[in-house]
Amino acid sequence: MYASVVLNVPLDRAFTYEVPEPLRPAVERGVLVSVTFNNRKMVGCVLSTADDPGAGAAAEIRAIAGVASPGYRISEELLGIGEFIADYYLCSMGEALASIAITGFRDVRLRPTVLYAPADADPPAELTRRQSEVLGKLRLNASAPATKSALAELAGCSSQLIDKLVAHGCLVETEPVREPREIARTGALELNAEQIQALDPILRTITGDSFGAFLLHGVTGSGKTEVYLQAMAEVLARGRTAICLVPEISLTPQTVDRFERRFGESIGVFHSQQSRTAKLALYHRIRDGGVRIVIGARSAVFAPLPDLGLVVVDEEHDGSYKQGETPRYHARDLAILRARRAGIPVVLGSATPSLESYTNALDGKYSLLKLGARAAGVAMPVVRVLDLSRELTERSGDVSLSEPLVKAVRERIDRGEQSILFLNRRGFSNFLFCPSCKWVAKCAEDDIAMTVHRKSARATRGDTNELDLFAAQEQPDKFSLRCHFCGRREHYPSKCPNCGREELLTIGSGTQRIEEELAARFPDARLLRLDYDTTSGRDAWLRAWNRMESGDADIIVGTQMIAKGLHLEKVTLVGVVLADVGLFIPDFRAEERTFSLLTQVAGRAGRTGAGDVYFQTWMPGHTAVRCATAHDYEAFYREESRRRREAGFPPFSRLTALTISDQDGEKALKAARLLASLLRRASSFAPERLRINGPRLAPLAKLGGRLRYRILLRGERPRSAGQLIRRVLGDSDWSVSGSTRVAIDVDALDLM
Ligand code: ADP
Ligand code: ZN
Repeated sequence: MYASVVLNVPLDRAFTYEVPEPLRPAVERGVLVSVTFNNRKMVGCVLSTADDPGAGAAAEIRAIAGVASPGYRISEELLGIGEFIADYYLCSMGEALASIAITGFRDVRLRPTVLYAPADADPPAELTRRQSEVLGKLRLNASAPATKSALAELAGCSSQLIDKLVAHGCLVETEPVREPREIARTGALELNAEQIQALDPILRTITGDSFGAFLLHGVTGSGKTEVYLQAMAEVLARGRTAICLVPEISLTPQTVDRFERRFGESIGVFHSQQSRTAKLALYHRIRDGGVRIVIGARSAVFAPLPDLGLVVVDEEHDGSYKQGETPRYHARDLAILRARRAGIPVVLGSATPSLESYTNALDGKYSLLKLGARAAGVAMPVVRVLDLSRELTERSGDVSLSEPLVKAVRERIDRGEQSILFLNRRGFSNFLFCPSCKWVAKCAEDDIAMTVHRKSARATRGDTNELDLFAAQEQPDKFSLRCHFCGRREHYPSKCPNCGREELLTIGSGTQRIEEELAARFPDARLLRLDYDTTSGRDAWLRAWNRMESGDADIIVGTQMIAKGLHLEKVTLVGVVLADVGLFIPDFRAEERTFSLLTQVAGRAGRTGAGDVYFQTWMPGHTAVRCATAHDYEAFYREESRRRREAGFPPFSRLTALTISDQDGEKALKAARLLASLLRRASSFAPERLRINGPRLAPLAKLGGRLRYRILLRGERPRSAGQLIRRVLGDSDWSVSGSTRVAIDVDALDLM
């Protein structure tokens, strides 16, 4: 017997391996196997088996070394999604399946593993007498799962014999029984009129057993989650299962709790920090029917749930749904695909839908459902704009908090309420600059300014009662430089390495600096900083979370980590330290991201009572700032879609970005020019003529020591660019030196 196996390599083909006798019962389509490839051990996925090796096989055929992640198999449905990904996002089937497989292409074992003997299946004919005997004994005496050694002892046989029975599928590995967690259950809320109107069409699609895409556009706190929960309850009642995607960042204990309180043990959680063993254990819980709802980040779109009845994508506009490496899939788009193929509804929810989804809704591709008011009868917070060009006078110098904001924070502290201060920039200072020679500290590998960080984890009280402590120059040993792309650290220079000047400027505040400014201003307040630096430890986020929830913090300073999904009753003030941070990024989605982030942050205020929001900004008239201030999504959509249409950017075109990189910049440029000219030539014969720009240096021109050139392809039809690229890259005219890489990003979200 031979198996055709795909591997996580950028080669668009399967490889033939021989299946040794003992593995035959276990090797079938969708199963992971360990093989040798180019003298390396790798794990791949079996696509098919056959009695002869087939015409394309190599002269010398190697044997499969073993079954990887035993008991696991990629379902036929997910193999189909894999085919779509390989075709649409231009990668190999192996690369697609390596993303889909719950363990990745790894050999993962559940430890400690327990085994049981399912009583129903007929024992395979090829068992030896001894093996059948042992199996019979175990079926009689070991109905509860037990460890391998316990079973061997019970049956009076060797552990090798137990292994054989596992290979034959007579014994099945499973996870030890977990202690059930005590969760106080809560019932469904009584929906308000708007929620009923939104839920109704979803329920009708569920009962009608058909596909339907819904865009649930509801302001922050309008009760979208309650609508999802009730739709899921209906799906469960009909004996089916559901997936709820949330951005990684909002996969907070609070969100998960809310689901568990409603559905108890049938909730399974998927997140990126989970070990592969935990993921495999989850697979078994799903297979055994224990888990029927999966809530998770991007990769949860591949949750191996049978009988799927509903997919929800919360915060559908969120950029984290797009994978940043091959395959560069968009989980929202795959959620829609999966739902369409399964003939079930998909609900996309957001307070600030992506331009893509809102346009689809206006075009009638999705049904638009609206929740215009907050659910609990609370008013939307009032947003006040603080124009920094007026508020920050020359006297305030290095200060980043204007007087009205400081006053508002003071009032909350005095009243025992919480404030959130938001700044989407971690570290102390954005960059280090020499005013004489204009030198900027940059990473040696990446063409990115290095961020100034204060070394101590947080400012200690008393250390910072003078505002002029912000002059990092006076204590260079307390600071360091870091590259936010690759993590490289360097010493803070005592003088400009270029011209020798001793006074360097730190420009632009980060969260550390705001924290110090607050510590100096409010020595009596309890501060909590939440960003990537303070929450990278294992339980740090959980601890921080508990402090916030229990009220053990007066002021919470943070990056976008705190913008989403938080529901804190005592927060009555949200201050955005610099609303325009994101607007300076040279990307066509900068406005959209800024608008959405500001709206989300503002939504954290006054969730249960009156709340105030302050936006500090240099550009109060900017569309994103102005529309977020007025909570006016439609106005933002109108202006932004006009701008995008004129510029020919998505959603009014399909955008594919090619990045050609090499350590040798000349080589990269040469390859990029060749590629662009081949694409242009081929495009003139293609069914749709595409707009092709470039090559140009990418906005992040150098990353990881490689120079990066960019070619953009834009057209109307979804697959035009992909077909063209596939044709050209397969063309005999196309060849580049081995060090040059071409990254393909279909439906690119950003152009960095
Ligand atoms: P969203 O998901 O739109 O941000 P949530 O579902 O989190 O909104 O709801 C916001 C708050 O309103 C929550 O505290 C929730 O318990 C409450 N809520 C939602 N629906 C109702 C309802 N029908 N009646 C009363 N309170 C509700
Ligand atoms: Zn770097």
